[in-house]
Amino acid sequence: MDNAIKICTYCLIEKPLDQFYKNKNHSDGYTNYCKVCTNMKHKEWIAKNPKFYFEINTQLRIDRLAAGLCMRCDQHRLPFSNIFCEDHFFMNKSASRLKSSEFWQDIKEKFYNQNMICPYSGKKLTLGIDASIDHILPVSRFPLLINDLNNIEWVDWGINCNKRNMTKEEYLQSERYKLKLFKMNEQRPSKESNLDLSAYGTPTCIMSRE
Ligand SMILES: [Zn+2]
Ligand SMILES: [Zn+2]
Repeated sequence: MDNAIKICTYCLIEKPLDQFYKNKNHSDGYTNYCKVCTNMKHKEWIAKNPKFYFEINTQLRIDRLAAGLCMRCDQHRLPFSNIFCEDHFFMNKSASRLKSSEFWQDIKEKFYNQNMICPYSGKKLTLGIDASIDHILPVSRFPLLINDLNNIEWVDWGINCNKRNMTKEEYLQSERYKLKLFKMNEQRPSKESNLDLSAYGTPTCIMSRE
């Protein structure tokens, strides 16, 4: 049965069985429409019934959240997330910070490979609290690196806000400079600053913690 084929009753094309969704209600265990046609019909139906689709989807989400589950699936929510299970947390992060949810497993792996530690502060990061994705070379200046996995690391949320559109090297330099200034000020007050941080924009804390 491995190379069995079936004719889609919509497009009338003969296709291997893996091109059909499984469905117990059909005698052969597969839908009559192929996957391509099923997906197309589904999209057509949503387009024709947007309000109804929105309502059943919304009700499903409300029910899951009320039951302590992830809004998107039947898994339990992360302890510090009001919305997501762990996998959907990473999917959402991937979508919002890397412009596509397809990298969620990569960023999840990165998080655990870093032992959940912020490379700047050495602090242990918690998903839903202070774990945020940083672009080592900022996207505002290096837009092509938005989903380059070598340009991604997990850092403390507060540090990410302060880093603004600095590169990692620039940020470390500014922190060292502030430390130096601080030490000098301990000895004698008011030393002029010659490092103009305003060039890197104002601190932005618009990133969602979810
Ligand atoms: Zn078809
Ligand atoms: Zn989920």
